[in-house]
Amino acid sequence: MLYVKEIFKSIQGEGFYTGKNAVFVRFTGCNLWNGKNKDRLNSQCSFCDTDFIGTDGINGGTFDEKSLVEKINLVWNKTFSNNKKYVILTGGEPMLQVTHYLVESLKKIGFFVALETNGTFQTSNIPFDWVCVSPKNMMSWQQREGDEVKVIFPQHNLNLDIIKKMKFRYFFLQPMDGSKKQVNTWNTINYCKSHKPWFPSFQIHKTLNIR
Ligand code: SF4
Repeated sequence: MLYVKEIFKSIQGEGFYTGKNAVFVRFTGCNLWNGKNKDRLNSQCSFCDTDFIGTDGINGGTFDEKSLVEKINLVWNKTFSNNKKYVILTGGEPMLQVTHYLVESLKKIGFFVALETNGTFQTSNIPFDWVCVSPKNMMSWQQREGDEVKVIFPQHNLNLDIIKKMKFRYFFLQPMDGSKKQVNTWNTINYCKSHKPWFPSFQIHKTLNIR
């Protein structure tokens, strides 16, 4: 069974496909943090701003692969019937649950299938159309190639000079949210000005207050 926190339509607010209509599927659970605030500082990822615990979000639940594909298609058709179908599998860490069959089934009914992952699992055996990796540390990082790499900035345990030599098509730096967001934004812009190929990515959906 597949555990899904929520399924919702929105626009992609960050990275290469910013502005594109999408259905987001947020899978339950992550391998770098258990989602409990009391354990945040001892986790491998301590700045998460996402609720990925449980299955109680909008359209969330427990699905078999067939019923999840039907649900995603239903959410898309309710709102975006005229566009090219685009689904973003995210989390939490979607690679804990996503299967070859699920992705293939979505593609069969016309979806462009994008993955947003922390990179701790290899993705090459699953036929995604787009792989976006947002790494959290060099040690646990397995998937070191793909379409875009999106580094939340600053992260002192990531080496940007090593990362920029990896096989990604696009290299994004995204200011870390939170109390230092403004200074992180300026530092991101300044770093990108003098360090190719890094390019800034902003969470436009938050600025526009779009869910
Ligand atoms: S890897 Fe992603 S989903 Fe997991 S805790 Fe970090 S930011 Fe959250």
